Amino acid sequence: MRVIVIGGGPCGLLLARLFSLEGHQVIVFEEHKQIGLPRHCTGLVSENIFQAYGIGKGEAHVIQDFSAGELLFGSKKMQIGFKPKALVLAREEFELEMALKASLSGAELKVGQKVIYASKKDKGYALKTTDGFQVSEYLADLVVDCSGAKKGLSGLQYEVEGKGPRWPQVYFEEKMPREYFYWVVPEGENRYLVGTASRAKTKEKLDTFLSSSKLRNELNVRKVLRAFGGLVVVDPPSSEFSSAFDGVLVAGDAANQVKLTTGGGLIFSAVSARALASAFTSNQENNGFSNYAKWFYARKKEIYKYHFIRSLYLNLPTSLFEKAFGKRVQDYLYRHPLPYDDHSSFLREGAFALGLDLILQMLGLDEQE
Ligand SMILES: Cc1cc2nc3c(=O)[nH]c(=O)nc-3n(C[C@H](O)[C@H](O)[C@H](O)COP(=O)(O)OP(=O)(O)OC[C@H]3O[C@@H](n4cnc5c(N)ncnc54)[C@H](O)[C@@H]3O)c2cc1C
Repeated sequence: MRVIVIGGGPCGLLLARLFSLEGHQVIVFEEHKQIGLPRHCTGLVSENIFQAYGIGKGEAHVIQDFSAGELLFGSKKMQIGFKPKALVLAREEFELEMALKASLSGAELKVGQKVIYASKKDKGYALKTTDGFQVSEYLADLVVDCSGAKKGLSGLQYEVEGKGPRWPQVYFEEKMPREYFYWVVPEGENRYLVGTASRAKTKEKLDTFLSSSKLRNELNVRKVLRAFGGLVVVDPPSSEFSSAFDGVLVAGDAANQVKLTTGGGLIFSAVSARALASAFTSNQENNGFSNYAKWFYARKKEIYKYHFIRSLYLNLPTSLFEKAFGKRVQDYLYRHPLPYDDHSSFLREGAFALGLDLILQMLGLDEQE
């Protein structure tokens, strides 16, 4: 097949590589002139990133790894062990490595080319791109939209120089509507990323947090080096065709394939790219669309359950929120390190603590370990 991938982010680059390795002819269009830039993401992932993207540990440009982190809310501070370990990626280098791997497997990367039109045509697709001056036209058998988040919270982070915790921290602020949290992530020697995401006034909220005594007790910020951000996906997926382009399949952030508790999508982008590529492998190309649809709906059902529990958490008054993170959850997390990419067990324990057994039963989430 002639396959066109819209977007040279992690999802599009992995997808291009997987399709190329299957012998398909692949072009990736990336609107920016340089892969990996501008940066928007923190790059905090679990060690599962290696398997998800098919990269060796030595190739992944890990800045630092962590066996534990901290949750801070009210006057409480709670330690959480991670299993597998969490790590911070050198994000730009990671994408460059993925681009190299896609090229080496035969995919063609066209940077500085924005896709402005794609639509179903006869048995395939027609597509138009522009470099800002000229419009070019292409035909393909399959087009996949991996162009990133289109809707979400506005995420912002400061890269700062300072001295503080040696592990990642997540802060829940009582005064902030709990649409999200603040994060502090060490990024090498005396460097940190401090960020948040919000529906409105993100910069104002982040600035207030930066000068708060709560943060100052943990992190002594000497200098703000730069600011960057982007959209953080927090809504569940809708459909495998939920692209701005007509009849085009979606994967990655464009398909809302993220861990809904945090919006972390690097691992889940890879999971969706792999599901899509394997839906179209060799002799089952004719069923590719329905194979991917089946995977998409099974995943959507799963994500919706946790979206529901997450919404409950976000709307809890402070006293109940503290209960949800109370002794039961603390004991649970003491006994079980947090599976970094799956927060379901810990959300479930919190919901049990709140006496939501019946709701958990209805959702089929009531099995306790
Ligand atoms: C502030 C912030 C912090 C984050 N932190 C984390 C984290 O710590 N851990 C984690 O796992 N995830 C994190 N994420 C989410 C993570 O960045 C995404 O899940 C991941 O980048 C999704 O990859 P993707 O390839 O689907 O989309 P993207 O990385 O967004 O890539 C899409 C690409 O498509 C290109 N593009 C868009 N439109 C077009 C077009 N019309 N034509 C051509 N090219 C186009 C874009 O330029 C971009 O390069 C964070 C996100 C934000 C905003």
